Amino acid sequence: MTLKARAREKVERAGISNYSFDQDVLVMCGVRYTIAACDCGEPECDGVRLEKDAAVASRMLQ
Ligand SMILES: [Zn+2]
Repeated sequence: MTLKARAREKVERAGISNYSFDQDVLVMCGVRYTIAACDCGEPECDGVRLEKDAAVASRMLQ
């Protein structure tokens, strides 16, 4: 399964339906999240991590 597909599952499991993908970036409520692989090894980990795109956020503040 691709990271993108895992991220989609994660978001849908959280009950969020208003999201979209911009290339490989997840967009929820106007916030962009970079999809990254997670290797923390936690048993309940789904192997995907969403990182807020700080670069975009700071650009919007200017
Ligand atoms: Zn993890």
